[in-house]
Amino acid sequence: MIAASFDYSAPETLADALRVLSDDPEAKILAGGQSLIPIMKLRLSIPSQVVDLGGIIDLHAIAEEEGIIRIGSMTTHEQVEHSELLSEKCPLLVAAASGIGDVQVRNRGTIGGSVAHADPAADYPAALQALDAKVKVVSSAGEKIIPIDEFIVDALTTALEPDEIITEIHVPTESTGIGTAYETIVQPASGYAIVGVAARIGLSEGNISFARVGITGVGSKAYRALAVEKALEGQPAKDDTYGIASRVAAEGVEALEDLHASSEYRAHLATVFTCRAIAAAAGRAQ
Ligand SMILES: Cc1cc2nc3c(=O)[nH]c(=O)nc-3n(C[C@H](O)[C@H](O)[C@H](O)COP(=O)(O)OP(=O)(O)OC[C@H]3O[C@@H](n4cnc5c(N)ncnc54)[C@H](O)[C@@H]3O)c2cc1C
Repeated sequence: MIAASFDYSAPETLADALRVLSDDPEAKILAGGQSLIPIMKLRLSIPSQVVDLGGIIDLHAIAEEEGIIRIGSMTTHEQVEHSELLSEKCPLLVAAASGIGDVQVRNRGTIGGSVAHADPAADYPAALQALDAKVKVVSSAGEKIIPIDEFIVDALTTALEPDEIITEIHVPTESTGIGTAYETIVQPASGYAIVGVAARIGLSEGNISFARVGITGVGSKAYRALAVEKALEGQPAKDDTYGIASRVAAEGVEALEDLHASSEYRAHLATVFTCRAIAAAAGRAQ
């Protein structure tokens, strides 16, 4: 398939990109093109022009400031995977990035593009939920910081307005006594998660003091497994606790069904991989 014809612009500043978006409501942002270009080729999206963010240098940086790591939206999956700062201070995101697609996809695809696309099986959203991450969006009217669970509304649907650009993803640096893990079973052709579970567990004197669990691939959007977190907090850090808590990993979620997994099997995988992720994260917190 060949995309319909479109104009192309490559602004060098955020202000210029925002101007193009407010002047042309049919324009679409181009980041790594790993999701947008296939959709345009299928003519499911027919933008009047694509606005390539690749030349805006400020969107490519990863920096730490006052306990928060700011990841520029144009940071590629490969840059996340190999960032020394993230590997030391936010290894959960590194684990999620390293399993995305293949090396070509990781070289081109960006964290901002992945979050904006909101694929229900994407890897980052589970990790970002477990990290209590926030998304910084900017438009000509100003800027907003949106918690990730409010930003992702449903499959392929976010809180982003057409004239807004994601500029940064904010994640906290890990404090001591907290361990993280990302456990996933993937669809081998694409690498997308059939189920992916990100866990962030804090321990204090042998008990679970803090739990965050984000799950992707199971429902129409990645979600926080609040029932699992509640069942973990205050309990002793041992296998029985993890097994019991994991049973409610898909509680209240309408599990997806496709040729890779029935809804019952997906819900079952959610319990298995939640248990594994919690156990691995708790092991690292020790
Ligand atoms: C073969 C293949 C395998 C893949 N496997 C996986 C996988 O295993 N796991 C996984 O998570 N993903 C996977 N992906 C998707 C990949 O991670 C993409 O990189 C990601 O979904 C989109 O990022 P992008 O930078 O390419 O965005 P683009 O395709 O350029 O854009 C996607 C959408 O986001 C919008 N957008 C992009 N950047 C911004 C911004 N800064 N502000 C506002 N809107 C923006 C665009 O307008 C567009 O609507 C795969 C893709 C392919 C092609």
